[in-house]
Amino acid sequence: MSPTSAPAGPHIIGLRCRECGRGYPAEALHVCEFCFGPLEVDYDYEAITAAISREKIAAGPPTIWRYADLLPAGSPGAVTSSGGASAPGAPVDLGAGFTPLVRADRLASELGLGELWLKNDTLNPTGSFKDRVVSVALTRARELGFKLAACASTGNLANSVAAHAARAGMDSVVFIPHDLEPAKVVTTAVYGGKLIAVDGTYDDVNRLCSELTADHPTWAFVNVNVRPYYSEGSKTLAYEVAEQLGWEVPDHVVVPVASGSQLVKVQKGFAELHRVGLLAEEPQVRISGAQATGCSPVATAFAEGTDHVRPQKPRTIAKSLAIGNPADGWYALDVVRSTGGAVGSVTDDEIVEGIRLLARTEGIFAETAGGVTIATLANLARQGVVRADERVVAYITGLGLKTIDAVSPHVGPTATIAPTIEAFNQAAEVDS
Ligand SMILES: [Zn+2]
Repeated sequence: MSPTSAPAGPHIIGLRCRECGRGYPAEALHVCEFCFGPLEVDYDYEAITAAISREKIAAGPPTIWRYADLLPAGSPGAVTSSGGASAPGAPVDLGAGFTPLVRADRLASELGLGELWLKNDTLNPTGSFKDRVVSVALTRARELGFKLAACASTGNLANSVAAHAARAGMDSVVFIPHDLEPAKVVTTAVYGGKLIAVDGTYDDVNRLCSELTADHPTWAFVNVNVRPYYSEGSKTLAYEVAEQLGWEVPDHVVVPVASGSQLVKVQKGFAELHRVGLLAEEPQVRISGAQATGCSPVATAFAEGTDHVRPQKPRTIAKSLAIGNPADGWYALDVVRSTGGAVGSVTDDEIVEGIRLLARTEGIFAETAGGVTIATLANLARQGVVRADERVVAYITGLGLKTIDAVSPHVGPTATIAPTIEAFNQAAEVDS
């Protein structure tokens, strides 16, 4: 493409109902008018196959936008490594994605596993994987003419929407449950948008936002009316892992489950790499899910062998996963079962243990969702579901500083001493 020609838009045909297959234009729509099924982005995979290559991706920016050809927003031609924000088709970009994939041998040996990798998404701009989905959602929202971004959030999404809206020069209105961790309130409010605390659970907040969407057609609710675009950002969690493994896929991945969307999109991401010719063979990746026992509708349905994901009232320290009525719960269950994975759940004590184990063995401080993932991985390894002969990837999706309260009662100074050699020697003796 010459520098003067207008960049082409994303390779999308429109939206399509996941249930009945009816097509819709690529606008701010999320539910099928006929069967109430969720709408999905419909891509022109032939055009993507013609446009994409491993070399082109490698030459792209160190962000999710290196995969612009596979995303439903932004113009692949306008994505540059300089992060320029004003060119037509340029994404709303704080640098989300292309986070490290680190080999975790010490943790593997504690868990009795062989080849274990951690996808360290604590290192995103606002400290969680939500930056991936929000960067895509706000890029599409801006293309559709929206000037205001809104969301219902358990915290991480609130941080990310407020930050990306500020970056894009958009207004934001963020709705959260009133009992969120203080760190997540501050790290949202600091960006200067509107922050509304609702006296209710996340499911109450989400229902309120669904109702508000009808009253405010000029607001882009990232996880309501622009959800089909938003959720596609999670596919980059699969793209990056494959690229970082030298264009190979893992045998087994463990993904935390809140709405279930992330897990479903990880599978879609691996499958698409084959579909557009970036992977020669069809990937066979087992996908397992991780939940907190205090909010485990998908794990419960898995354990009971039923298709029916019954809503629960959340009671867990893993607030970022505390969605009692998960929108994609059934789809997540389907992916797990069809790939030969499992969905496990862990208690709050196990979550704290998981956070500390990860920190102690690998030097990564995760929020409670990461504790859920590691503790569930430990259980699945013990049960023989995750095996020592598998190449395993665990997704660590949020930073520990966001949920300090979960671990602060359990860790602290080894000793508090007077500033003298004598006092130190005395304290050190206790250990030696
Ligand atoms: Zn439909």
